[in-house]
Formats: sequence, C-alpha cells, structure tokens
Amino acid sequence: MNKQTRNWDGLNRQIRREIAPFLIPVEEAEEKNAAKVLAAFREFHISESHFAPTSGYGYGDFGRDTLDQVFARIFGAEAALVRPHFVSGTHAIAVAVLGNVIPGDEVIAATGTPYDTLAEVIGHKCHAPGSLTAIGVAYKEIPLTADQDIDLPAVLQAITPRTRVVMLQRSRGYVWRPSFSVSKLGSVIAAIKEKFPQVICFVDNCYGEFAEETEPTEVGADLIAGSLIKNPGGGVAPTGGYIAGKREYVERAACRLTAPGIGAKVGSNPAGYRLFYQGLFLAPHITAEAIKGAIFAGALFSRLGFEVSPLPAEKRTDIIQAIGFGTPERLIGFCQGLQHGSAVDSHVTPEPWGMPGYEDAVVMAGGTFVQGSSIELSADGPLRPPYAAYLQGGLAFAYTRQSLILAAQEMEARGLLKD
Ligand SMILES: *Cc1c(COP(=O)(O)O)cnc(C)c1O
Repeated sequence: MNKQTRNWDGLNRQIRREIAPFLIPVEEAEEKNAAKVLAAFREFHISESHFAPTSGYGYGDFGRDTLDQVFARIFGAEAALVRPHFVSGTHAIAVAVLGNVIPGDEVIAATGTPYDTLAEVIGHKCHAPGSLTAIGVAYKEIPLTADQDIDLPAVLQAITPRTRVVMLQRSRGYVWRPSFSVSKLGSVIAAIKEKFPQVICFVDNCYGEFAEETEPTEVGADLIAGSLIKNPGGGVAPTGGYIAGKREYVERAACRLTAPGIGAKVGSNPAGYRLFYQGLFLAPHITAEAIKGAIFAGALFSRLGFEVSPLPAEKRTDIIQAIGFGTPERLIGFCQGLQHGSAVDSHVTPEPWGMPGYEDAVVMAGGTFVQGSSIELSADGPLRPPYAAYLQGGLAFAYTRQSLILAAQEMEARGLLKD
C-alpha cells in the first residue's frame, strides 16, 4: 500500500476552477432545452390529472397519450411513444427497427459496430430468435474510417433498393471513438435522403438527449429511440424507453410493442405518470449536471496521467466520458473505488462478469437509486484494451466530484495511480 500523498481537496477545487469556462456552453444548452420543455408543458396544460394511475387496457389514458405528445413536441417529432413497458433502451431500439422492416429488407449500420447489446437484436453473429437476421432481414455494417469518422461514400454505395433502415449511433457506446454531434448526423442524413428518400434514417439517441440544443429528429432523422433510465428520465423515471419520429414509423413500432391493430392506444400504468413528467421536466438540468461531472472526470484523470476522451475543452453531444486505464487492474480498481464512493451500495465491490447481451466481461460501478440507471453516476468497462472506463451520469455535480475523488483516492491507496 502506498500512502496518500496528494492534496485531494485542493485538487478538486483547482480542477473545478480550471474547467469553469467549459461549463458555460453546457449551461447554455440546459437553458435552451429547459425553454423547450417548459413550452411543451404549458402548451399541453399539464396538470395533476395527467399523473394519475390507470389500469387494465388503459383505454383513453390521457396521461399516457399526452406524455407522447409532449415528448414529440420537445423532440421536434410528429409522434412519440413513451412507455414504462419498454424494458430498456435496447428494447426500444429493437421495437423501432423490427417494427419497420419486413423479410427481404436490409438494414445498414452506418456508424460501425453498434452498441454491444444490439448484436443479438441484429443476430448476425448468433441468430438469436426473433432477431433481424432470423426473420430474413439482411444486415450490413459500414466501419468507421481510419480517423473514426462516418464513411459516407461507403454508406451511400452500400444502400440498395432493399435497404429499409440506416442505423446511426450518436454516442460512442463502448468504443474509443468520438460521439457524433447532431449537426454531423444531420449532414449524413441529408446526404442519404438526397439520393434515397425512401430509406428510414434511424438514430440510437441513447445518452444524447438534451446534451445539445437540438435533437436528431430536428435535423432530419426519421426515427430515434432511447432509454428513460438515461437522460430523458431525469434520474427519477423508474423504468421505460421512448421512440420518436415520423408518425407512420412510430405507429408501426407501436404495433410491434403491443400488437398489430392495437398499437399505442392501449397500455396502462398502475403506478401513474408523475415520475415520467417530473423526470422529463428535470432532464435538461440533470443532463447538464452529468456533463459537468464528465468534464470534471476528464480533467481529473487527465491530470492523473490517463488518456481521456473527450478532452475537457471539447464540445459534448452526449454524457459519456471515456478514461483509458490501460490495464485491467486499474480499470477494475477505478470501478470498485467509484462504487465505494457512491451513496447507494457503497459497501459492495463490483467484479467483472459476462452480462447478457454483452460480448466481453464487463465491470460496472453503479451506486444508483434506480437499478442500472446510468443517468445516475455509473461506470462500465469491458475487459478489453484499452481497458477504458465509460463513465456517465451523476445527478448532482457536487456529488459526482466527491465520488470521483473517492475513486481516485482508493486507486492511490491501492498503488494503482501513476507516480
Ligand atoms: C445504453 C445504450 C443502449 C441501450 O442500452 P440499455 O442498457 O438496453 O438501455 C443502446 N445504445 C447505446 C449507444 C447506449 O448507450
């Protein structure tokens, strides 16, 4: 055991001061998004009656139907489907894509290998029952260029008359690559639409909501999906996911979620909708808090000699901060330290394990009030080079700084920091 040598309080303060200029654009985006959310709540006259529980079929559940409309308005979309019945972001993405294809169609992933949990939805490696390939949908993947950009010429070349959906992923997932900004996605979508107007441009919007002043649906995306235990649930939605976009495509997705002919018009929520509305209301602020925490984490661990991406000064389009720890011991040590520095389950020590849907063993820290919520402070790292932790969330900037300092202190105490 090394003894502690650093002045951690001083470092916290110093880094907080150094990153102050980088927090200004984050607050500006928060303000813009808060204005959008407030306008939508006022337009639809949200009141306590929208929060009420419903039961059975949920016919005429206006809390549910109005939540869809509010979401659609905020995201600049024709329609939205916001449901506690989505078990996760992966489920929402699967419903959005599977609901909009028929056998013989083709789906193209335009931003390289999609997020780990989508491998089984696609089914190209394992032919999982009900996956795209299992129902006769062809799949192609266009790798990113050498400098980690979208290979637009290759994407355009890959599109055929069978291509029904082009999938784009905004956030980096578990890949050491930059996340794609909304304007970047918009320009790629415009180029695709110009040549192939019939193709559905789908964006996996996970971790991106409210990080910028616009959403992909405002720059041409036909369909987006995400999780309510990430940004748009504001840290208080207890479960669920959403899909938003063109009405026709959202309706098809709704028929996949429930049943053909039933679509979005059924589905009750015995627990009521208050936490979904309140979470959406808080989401611009909570997302900003998470991004501030990410910037601080980047600055702190870069000061401690680790590679970080994005850099503290870089513009953000999602809440992810990647930290390259270089060795499995350091990655695991960081995640364990972060867990020990959390308000919930601080006595628990996470170990790497083979999670359903993930290819490599993953070590995860998450001392969260909502199980698995990653708008709350959490970190995951697949046990593969560069042994990076992908950090996200943090409901409150001050708490996030505390927990990160505790994680770094534990690494120091265990001799896992560089000298
Ligand atoms: C979180 C995430 C998903 C979905 O993950 P769930 O754990 O199923 O909610 C999909 N894509 C990306 C990029 C993500 O970050």
